[in-house]
Formats: sequence, C-alpha cells, structure tokens
Amino acid sequence: MQIETLAVHAGRRVDSATGAVAQPIHLSTTFERDPNGKWPRGYTYSREENPNRETLEKCLAALEGGKEALVFSSGLAVVNAVVQAMEPGDHLIFPDDVYYGLRRVIGEVFAEWKLESSFVDMTDTGAVSAAAMKPNTRLLWVESPSNPMLRVADLSAIAQIARKANAVSICDGTFTTPVIQRPFDFGIDMVMHSTTKYIAGHSDVVGGALITKHDNYLFERARKSQKYGGAVPSPFDCWLTRRGVDTLVLRVRQQSANAREIAEFLRGHAAVERVLYPGLSAHPQHELARAQMPGGFGGMLSVQVRGGRQEAMGVAARVRIFTRATSLGGTHSLIEHRASVEGPQSVIPANLLRISAGIENVDDLKADLDQALRPLL
Ligand code: PLP
Repeated sequence: MQIETLAVHAGRRVDSATGAVAQPIHLSTTFERDPNGKWPRGYTYSREENPNRETLEKCLAALEGGKEALVFSSGLAVVNAVVQAMEPGDHLIFPDDVYYGLRRVIGEVFAEWKLESSFVDMTDTGAVSAAAMKPNTRLLWVESPSNPMLRVADLSAIAQIARKANAVSICDGTFTTPVIQRPFDFGIDMVMHSTTKYIAGHSDVVGGALITKHDNYLFERARKSQKYGGAVPSPFDCWLTRRGVDTLVLRVRQQSANAREIAEFLRGHAAVERVLYPGLSAHPQHELARAQMPGGFGGMLSVQVRGGRQEAMGVAARVRIFTRATSLGGTHSLIEHRASVEGPQSVIPANLLRISAGIENVDDLKADLDQALRPLL
C-alpha cells in the first residue's frame, strides 16, 4: 500500500463488538482475565497495553516502513527513554544545532549519569567520523533538516558511520514526517517523532514516537521505559493523534508547497537578509536535500530580517494571520522569535524568525508577511 492509503487504514479495523467505523476510545485501565487466568484478548493493564495505543503504534510503524513503534507521552519522553537506555561511560553524538530541549535533557536531567556527549556539525561527515572513533560510541543522533537553522545532514553517510562504530543511529523525523523523507531508506536504525507536531497536526495533543527498522537493544530498553516506567500517552491522546494521521499526507504536502512559495517570496524581499530553506537552490545542501527529501522540502523555514532582535520582534508583532507561538506542524501558520524562546544560552541569530507554514491560502500568508516586513524598508 502507498502512504496515502496507509495514513487512512494502517492499524485500524472496524470494531468487532459494535461495527463502529471510528475506533472507540478505550478508557478502561484494566482488562478481564479468563477463568483459566489467561488474557486471550491480549490486554491486561492499560499502562502495558491499550487498544488505542496499539492502533497508533501499528500505524506509525507502517508509515515509516519500520518493524515496530512505541508511542510516548511526549517527544522528549522518547529522548529520555533512549538516554536512560545508555550505560555509564557510553559516548553519544548529537548535532551541534540539535533541538534545544534535547540539550537540556542531556545537560540537566542526565548531568550526573557519567555519559560522554559530543555535539558535532552533522553537515561535516569527516567531523562525525572523527567523533565516532571513540570505542565507547553507542549512539549517533541526527536531525535533518535541523531546528531552526534548516541544515541538511547526509543520512546515508551518518548511518554508515554508526554501523562502522557499532553504534545505533536515530533520526529525529519531526520536521519531515515520512511524507517528505524516510530515514530507513538511507540505512538509519530508528526514527523518533515529536508527534505533537505534523503527525497529530492540529496543535491539540502532545506525544512522541520511536520507530525501529529492526530488533535492537536500545529499542527493547525503551520499551521497558514505556511499559514499566510509565511514560505512556492517554487513550484519548492516541485516538486524537491517530485521527490526525488520516490527513497527514494532504496537510504536509500543502504545508510544504506553501513553505516553498513563502521562501521564494521572502528571498526577493528588500527587508530580508537571508532565507533558510532546503528547497531554495541557494541552500548549501540543496542537492543533498533533493536526493534525500523526495516528498518535498517540508513546511518549516527560517528568515533573517534586516536588522537585529528589535526588528525581528517587530515583524512578529505585526502579523495578523500568522500566530506568534512556539511549536510547529499545525494547520495554522506560526511565527516565532527563536532566540528569545531558547533563552540566554541560545546561539540562534537575533534577527531570525522561524516559520511553520500552515494550510491557509499562500497569497494571504505572503501578504501578511509583506505588511509586517514593510516598516523595515
Ligand atoms: N524534536 C524536535 C525537532 C522538536 O521540535 C521538538 C519539540 O519542539 C521535540 C523533539 C520535543 O517534542 P515534545 O515537545 O513533543 O516533547
């Protein structure tokens, strides 16, 4: 089945008890045993198994072309489960411009865990190779395109480096979804998502997923964090997310087309210094992005306006259709001043605004940005 069909059907079936076409939400925390003490229907207690969670996990595994998926209560709960699976002395490699929340998990939650972390420029394959020479390297984490600098890393090269180092590679697929890019096609071992974003798609439910291409020890340890550690999403969260996936392909294609047109428009705008979008031919990794992102270049872009923090904040203050808010991937367009969201340690340029293109009419979106930028001229 193709991705459009999988998005609608994967993991789903008509409810055998009632014929309901939309899956019921199973709020029951516990499930009946047979007189012989067995649970023949496969469910015992809802932290361990739940029908809505199972539906979502099967669906996400199918969409990515993976073997199995685990869903969690947030994207960062996935990060926590993976890092918890490491052992003292293990060496982990992350992008130097990794999502800042992951940096906080490493630096604050696991500060005393005796893990060794390297933050490397993932667009420099030589630097990644050199970092992976350490014999204790166990994990290579990659985000492509990165957040919010939209740098593109070579997934095949990174997967190969990980294999050679006997380490596991994980790609954060939050920005792309399998509609745009399928990391397993490039040899990556596992994919994670903040399903809060495009997968659920309506800015109304927080969640995360870890999907594996093949059996591996990190996935098994993450399963224990989920089932026994309890980092599980509620049945309603799973239901909402699975419903969101029905329209994932339609939404992401429209968001990607809108982002591309906005990027082209901003590139020629006199109040703009630089546009970061892998779909622009001037992007330093444009050719790699073309090869790696067959579904389009995604709905995320960043723009550096002429001026500094004040000018950028001024543009964000003047928008009327875009909403000033963090997060991404919803049906509605968002704009945010990234450096002030990340706080004083942020290395993001002060004149940068990150844009999440929604599914609105693109001419309306361009006109909104134009009126917000004009006072800078
Ligand atoms: N990865 C990326 C690329 C993100 O943008 C985010 C959240 O913004 C996360 C992971 C964390 O996900 P969550 O907010 O669902 O915990």
